[in-house]
Amino acid sequence: MNLDINSVLAAQSLLNGVADKTPLVPSNFLSNILKNELLLKLENMQPTGAFKIRGAINAVYNLPKDTRVVTCCSTGNHGRGIAYAAKLKGIKAVIFMSSLVPQVKIEAIQSLGAEVILCGEDQTDSELACRQSVRENGYVEVSPFDDPYVIAGQGTIGLELLSQRPDINSIVLPLSGGGLAAGIALAVKEKKPKIRVFGVTMENGAAMHISIKNGKPTEVSEVPSLADALGGGIGLNNKFTFPLCQKLIDDTFTVSENEIYHAMQTLYYEDRIIAEGSCVVGIAAILAKKIRNLNGPIATVLTGRNVNMSMYTDIINGSDIKLGESILSGSRYKQYKE
Ligand SMILES: *Cc1c(COP(=O)(O)O)cnc(C)c1O
Repeated sequence: MNLDINSVLAAQSLLNGVADKTPLVPSNFLSNILKNELLLKLENMQPTGAFKIRGAINAVYNLPKDTRVVTCCSTGNHGRGIAYAAKLKGIKAVIFMSSLVPQVKIEAIQSLGAEVILCGEDQTDSELACRQSVRENGYVEVSPFDDPYVIAGQGTIGLELLSQRPDINSIVLPLSGGGLAAGIALAVKEKKPKIRVFGVTMENGAAMHISIKNGKPTEVSEVPSLADALGGGIGLNNKFTFPLCQKLIDDTFTVSENEIYHAMQTLYYEDRIIAEGSCVVGIAAILAKKIRNLNGPIATVLTGRNVNMSMYTDIINGSDIKLGESILSGSRYKQYKE
């Protein structure tokens, strides 16, 4: 498949009526702080609670006709998208995930009728197990990011953003494998070459950020993070997202676990929005003033809401959080007044 703007347009017509066109709403609180308009693209409102439904549906609907079992490795949201798409298509889905994936994501995938195989301690382990099932059982794999149909599906968010607000000048995105950023950058820069696209990820395990700095795909070790959906490498044999992100993303930044914690609280108290840690890294970077010369209007994509609720309520209450073996010290949110 030739990956270009036509791939994104084709994905857009395929997704019409299957994935939702999501609202783009202003954050008054953050716009005031920034002295610049900040818009939130509510992909957390998708039927699966995350944007990954777009790429997953586009990929599953374009699988070879005789595909009986689709498989993937996932940090949770892609697996849920694939399970959802497979159910619509009437085929079986087998999802490989590691012990870093929150229970809430595992249960949601099982309730869609997919088979979940938990294996290993990080995304790399589940990826190897998934590859093996492809070799041994003939399953057809859909990568969570390094797949042209997945990238084109995520790119439809870019087309929607510009149709909702053609005046957007900057887009700040969570960055992991880079399917989201590559797809959106591909779509928006074709329509509006001067628009700037920034990628943000967590400090620990920033695979694409480090790979871009090194000029080649680079392995990172994966550790527990509030941004669990951003875990995993980009693959040393990365075919699509690395070259696209290298070429199209204007700059990348990292945020600390404390900055992610604070951004989750801010979005809850000021905008009344429930969001995963992975989803707020863009806001965390903006609040920490890491991105200089941000030209407004600015948009950020709120990528998902599939957070473990007991951990989430602890964050909202300002409690300490256990992340693997270490403790992240919490603090109560201050700004909000009623
Ligand atoms: C997958 C995911 C991302 C990152 O997307 P990539 O295409 O891997 O860069 C961000 N946020 C959430 C909630 C996700 O599930």
